[in-house]
Amino acid sequence: MDKGRDCSDIVRRTDIATATGGVVAELGGGKFANGALSAAFVYLFRESMHTTRQALKIQFRGGTKTERVGVLSDLNDIFGTKRRAKMLSNTQSPLVIDLSVKNRAYIQNAPSDTIYIDLNFHPKISTDSGSIPATTRRILSHELGHSVFGALDDGINRMNNINLNENPVMNELGMPLRLEY
Ligand SMILES: [Zn+2]
Repeated sequence: MDKGRDCSDIVRRTDIATATGGVVAELGGGKFANGALSAAFVYLFRESMHTTRQALKIQFRGGTKTERVGVLSDLNDIFGTKRRAKMLSNTQSPLVIDLSVKNRAYIQNAPSDTIYIDLNFHPKISTDSGSIPATTRRILSHELGHSVFGALDDGINRMNNINLNENPVMNELGMPLRLEY
């Protein structure tokens, strides 16, 4: 990958390198800086306890540069939780994050290599801290559960993906737990 100026700028801006102690984002080909529809990042995940290294390429469609950096930061935190190792081993590469959709967040199949998210979509949800708008990082955690693990919104009260993926990640990030689908 190109280790040019754009890469280090992105790393500095998002504190990717320090946030999870060993996650590095690199920018390839300057696509991000050029504002092209597809920007590719490579994450090199280094487990501190052993030598396993995995690479995951994430491609963005749509969204502004600032929005993409925000999503990158959210993903960085999500991949920093205990679900990380399993999530990484299950994730297809490349993972596509499509930010060009309107008023929705979804995947087309489970599992899936593409997640569609409108960054202005924040539906009210019921949590143990009351009714609150769903943040993008929560929506990402939810959709990653579908796309990476193939989890479905089924089971008792359709809570399976929430119980398996969304709530464990949110809990570790100090956010309220969702009580209803
Ligand atoms: Zn769902």
